[in-house]
Amino acid sequence: LIKEENKNDYQIFKTSLTEGFKERLTMENELHKAIKNQDFELFFQPQIEMKSKKIIGLEALCRWNHPEKGLIPPKEFIPLSEKTGLIVELGDWVIREACRQNKLWQDLGLPKVKVSVNLSARQFLQRDLVRNIESILNETGLDPQYLELEITESMAMSNEQFIIETLKGFQQLGVNVALDDFGTGYSSLKYISQFPLSKLKIDRLFIQNRTEQNVAIVKTIIHLSHSLNLKVIAEGVENEEDLLFLNGENCDEVQGFYFSKPVPVKEVDLLFNKKLS
Ligand code: C2E
Ligand code: MG
Ligand code: MG
Ligand code: MG
Repeated sequence: LIKEENKNDYQIFKTSLTEGFKERLTMENELHKAIKNQDFELFFQPQIEMKSKKIIGLEALCRWNHPEKGLIPPKEFIPLSEKTGLIVELGDWVIREACRQNKLWQDLGLPKVKVSVNLSARQFLQRDLVRNIESILNETGLDPQYLELEITESMAMSNEQFIIETLKGFQQLGVNVALDDFGTGYSSLKYISQFPLSKLKIDRLFIQNRTEQNVAIVKTIIHLSHSLNLKVIAEGVENEEDLLFLNGENCDEVQGFYFSKPVPVKEVDLLFNKKLS
């Protein structure tokens, strides 16, 4: 009897393993197709300068516009894209599309703001990334000062020299780099002071769960940023209390649902007419 049960367990295990594998394969195939058909869409979330209360940036956030399933959030396809290497092509599309769109808005007379693009680790390790971004800027005609790249701490660990060279390449192009989800990864003060960065982005974890410790961490990150001549932005600002707290701590910029969720392209102009606080 015990033997039978074990056998069943194994069957179930084997079946679910196969199912998971099939699912992954299907998704991988669909992702390939989606990239070919450009079935992706960028949403944009405003970044607000505390001092002026004005929008100074828009973060581009990718969604997969699936023919049957509708809009799929990035956490459901970015990891697989990263694993399979598809992220390189997808990421390239995201940068080009974000630059093209930002230039278009500027030409249409919207206030000039930065567009922030998230880079994945694999994408960042591409040898020709800097040259690639340079040609995208040339093709789209976007002034480099209006592009910002967001990298995470996780990629800041491997191959230090290569990372510094890439970051210097961005600096020479006139493109700013922000360190995203700051505080959740392998922060090393050595890297933060050595890397040519322009901004730290405090992870929303610290904003949304304001324990005594997290408050202390937020204060420290803001002080650290300013001592190193970096700007600092907080993500995940959902209500007025969050905003008041960050304002009191001298945080330079804020981003979060309190101002706006990420919106599709056609709603971006409305953000600029809306009174923000
Ligand atoms: P992220 O770069 O940290 O982006 C911020 C995420 O937090 C976004 O989720 C945004 O919708 C969400 N968010 C913003 N404000 C609030 C708030 O007040 N409260 C809460 N609860 N959430 C808020 P989204 O769009 O689902 O993106 C998730 C992650 O996927 C991003 O995190 C980024 O790491 C990744 N991602 C998105 N687009 C791209 C892309 O084009 N390329 C790469 N490599 N990664 C991307
Ligand atoms: Mg980001
Ligand atoms: Mg973030
Ligand atoms: Mg985050």
